[in-house]
Amino acid sequence: MARMDILSLPLAVLEQHILEMGEPKYRAKQIFSWLHQKQVTDFGQMTTLSIQLRKRLDEKFCINRLNIVRKLASNRDNTVKYLYELQDGNFVETVLMDYLHGKSICISTQVGCRMGCRFCASTIAGYVRNLEPSELLLQLYETQRDSGCRIDSIVMMGIGEPLDNFDNVLRFFRLLSDPCGFGMSLRHVALSTCGIVPQIRELADLHLGVTLSVSLHSPENKCRSEIMPVNRSYPVEDLLDACRYYFEKTGRRVTFEYAVIEGVNDTHADAVNLAQRLCDMHCHVNLIPVNPIAERSYHSMRKSVERFQKSLVQLGINVTIRRTLGSDIEAACGQLRRDALQK
Ligand code: SAH
Repeated sequence: MARMDILSLPLAVLEQHILEMGEPKYRAKQIFSWLHQKQVTDFGQMTTLSIQLRKRLDEKFCINRLNIVRKLASNRDNTVKYLYELQDGNFVETVLMDYLHGKSICISTQVGCRMGCRFCASTIAGYVRNLEPSELLLQLYETQRDSGCRIDSIVMMGIGEPLDNFDNVLRFFRLLSDPCGFGMSLRHVALSTCGIVPQIRELADLHLGVTLSVSLHSPENKCRSEIMPVNRSYPVEDLLDACRYYFEKTGRRVTFEYAVIEGVNDTHADAVNLAQRLCDMHCHVNLIPVNPIAERSYHSMRKSVERFQKSLVQLGINVTIRRTLGSDIEAACGQLRRDALQK
């Protein structure tokens, strides 16, 4: 029988297993702390447990791991990009970033993606599978271990669509924020979605404190459906209603990501349309110069991005241009994994 992935088990579930093994319940908390606070990689390192119990745990459970396959450090800033290999041979990417207020990591949530956004490198080779809660956590644990840095915040903006892996993402949140585990406040987590409306509403109802970031990229259904197929199921109006609902329920201001693509979504009319759509919302717009990928001719010009920003500011919208980190190390979503697959 395959051993169970112990890092994916919430404390309450681990307690059940430990009781079934005939051990006292408090052992589960000890084990949980070894796994998520001390982050041991082997049951043999759990020295507060008897050798016999360590052996029994090793028969029933496994401690999942990620292997570093490639690591690229930027010469321009302190960005480090990791290509991790999962136990089944698949790859994901994680990026460690240096901000004024501390270290942040950008994690992947799926192997590949099935959302099909036209400008995104993560989706081109298609979807392979969801990441397990342990694989989400391990991107944090391994990056922290390798870099020796304490990581203060997480953005879920790597490969994959987090709301398309909703159950595992919720289990990850529960594990991450458990005070007996890593203990990160979910206020330090931002989840980025292409706009899967029912799950945005569900997330709002859970009141987790997570910051919601929505990849909008166009205020207009025709254009948005062309570059983001998800819009055919959840059009702009429904998406923005769900964002209003998120703010009402959580009091958290929503961020809109907008990749400015020359000749596609960057006209003055687009800015006006966008401002009209957002004027009644507590939100922030983050403009991203689109990162060119080999398969498409999309590109962005600095002066167009600045012009677009200026129009939005004049229309009363809270807007910034995203700082480009790690531009010398292919830090854009999905590029490193694709490289590895091609090789
Ligand atoms: N699936 C989620 C999170 C992953 S993508 C989402 O769609 O939000 C993270 C962000 O990078 C999204 O805003 C996405 O639209 C953007 N992105 C993807 N490819 C890009 C590119 N080539 N240039 C600029 N931004 C890109």
